[in-house]
Amino acid sequence: MIITIDGPAGAGKSSVSRALAEKLGFTYLDSGAMYRALALYLLEKGVDIKDEKQVEKYLEDVQIDLDNDSVFLNSRNVSHLIRTPEIDQASSAVSRISAVRNRLTELQREMEQRGDMVAEGRDMGTVVFPEADFKFFLTASPEERARRREAQLAGQKKNIINHEIILQQIKNRDKADSSRAVSPLKAASDAFIIDSTNLTFEEVIEKILNIIKEKRKKSGKDQTE
Ligand code: C5P
Repeated sequence: MIITIDGPAGAGKSSVSRALAEKLGFTYLDSGAMYRALALYLLEKGVDIKDEKQVEKYLEDVQIDLDNDSVFLNSRNVSHLIRTPEIDQASSAVSRISAVRNRLTELQREMEQRGDMVAEGRDMGTVVFPEADFKFFLTASPEERARRREAQLAGQKKNIINHEIILQQIKNRDKADSSRAVSPLKAASDAFIIDSTNLTFEEVIEKILNIIKEKRKKSGKDQTE
């Protein structure tokens, strides 16, 4: 079974997807981590990420693997290097390039061999797994997403950035992700849209599990209890 969870940055997709995968005993596919690892690779190689031709040349030499919470770049665990503001921006920039999307889509589809999966990203339900069993689009207001990001940074004891700056960064990334020509961020027509602005993390999980249960009950194959 494939469950896709798409949505904008900071809507809580990662924690929800990870928890859901754990609860159901499914593999967790964090596609954003793959874009981030690729961005890291290109930055480390000194490639100009705005130069599509140059980026394309480097794609053949890159192997990216996921193992639940860890991401491996050519067998090196880079999980601790990809969650920085620099990689936030660089991954968004490289994700506009269609050769990059094609390569990563290929790697993501290969993961289907691992069995049941929760796939999280921007285009999981629309492009990568259009035949997914359940599709969710998780969103929240930009202000709420900025507030959560702030709380997360404070929790990690990272430099506290001004709320307005975080909000602006979120809005910029939304705009870039939604307006790009290839696989823009949008809900699949058959996705369940969940606005988590006024929901707790537990309420979101409960809502998703209920939707899965109801739909499976209707089709006579409820195994989620
Ligand atoms: O989800 P996360 O913030 O880690 O993703 C980093 C960037 O990778 C996003 O801003 C987006 O531009 C890109 N991305 C994408 N398609 C996906 C997952 C992520 O374009 N399926």
